Amino acid sequence: MRESELHVADVPQSAGTGAVPAPARIDELVAAAHARGIEDRTGTVADYIPVLAEADPESFGLCVADVDGGLHEIGDSRIRFSIQSISKAFVYALLCEEIGHAEVRETVGVDNTGLAFNSVVAIELNDGHPMNPMVNAGALATTALVPGATPEAQWDRIRDGLSRFAGRPLELDDDVYRSETATNQRNRAIAQLLESYGRIRRDPAGVVDVYTRQCSLLVDAHDLAIMGATLADGGVNPLTGEQVVSAAVCRDTLAVLAASGLYERSGEWLFEIGLPGKSGVAGGLVTVAPGKAGIAAYAPRLDAAGNSVRGQVATAYLSRALGLNIFASDSHYLRKDQP
Ligand code: GLU
Repeated sequence: MRESELHVADVPQSAGTGAVPAPARIDELVAAAHARGIEDRTGTVADYIPVLAEADPESFGLCVADVDGGLHEIGDSRIRFSIQSISKAFVYALLCEEIGHAEVRETVGVDNTGLAFNSVVAIELNDGHPMNPMVNAGALATTALVPGATPEAQWDRIRDGLSRFAGRPLELDDDVYRSETATNQRNRAIAQLLESYGRIRRDPAGVVDVYTRQCSLLVDAHDLAIMGATLADGGVNPLTGEQVVSAAVCRDTLAVLAASGLYERSGEWLFEIGLPGKSGVAGGLVTVAPGKAGIAAYAPRLDAAGNSVRGQVATAYLSRALGLNIFASDSHYLRKDQP
């Protein structure tokens, strides 16, 4: 979305190099971000997975989780929804932890395809390489590499890993799982295509099933903010204190999110908001301010690429007002001359 569509042209950009404001001020800014987001009624609720069309288009929750464990939430931050594509970021982090930086890069890739998340053409254009773990091809290739002798064992590992990011046991939404299983012919085709290129070395049907389950895990904005704060804090969950993944894995994951977390609008998002993030078609959006906080929004109306509109508006405001944009700096040279 453009700056004018994000309604932030009037918000001064604080440098991303300073500390975050005091907790009471963050509460005020979260409320202001929510007030801006709620004004926006553009976008449409996803319906290509039939059950997602039943979401209330007016739902809007927002939560900031600081790396010191502080939570700032407003609105529908405890409404649960399916995590969808946002699971890709966390399964990727778990896989990096298991098999390492070099191998994941080789087999899954790190570059943006510039094409839709469920593109088959992108696979063909790249000689069968999935290109990056945030599109369905790369996510299926990632899930296929998760250790486990059976799909059931892989699923247990994924659910357990994502639950450790959230700091509570996450559950499957059976309706979403069944609705997506009945309509995911395209993902099945992608998995078979990847198998034909030797990029998936397991039964593709089992891989799609585990992937569909990971997408059907239920979270709320407060969970996602904690999951994001874990990536912001070197892999340590700020509520449980558990080291879920290493700091090096967080760095790798956030680099991939910066390049490809918001579908084919990732460049535009980075240009306006300046932070790694990941969205999902149920309306979730998680953003990570390294060393500072996780920000999460839930609002089911999406832009044409599949990103929550209100989520983007609220996050753009917070990035500016809280001083989170990783590309925004103040001049040290000019500051040192000040009395
Ligand atoms: N489960 C969805 C799919 O594979 C996820 C899509 C998304 O959130 O981008 O189509």
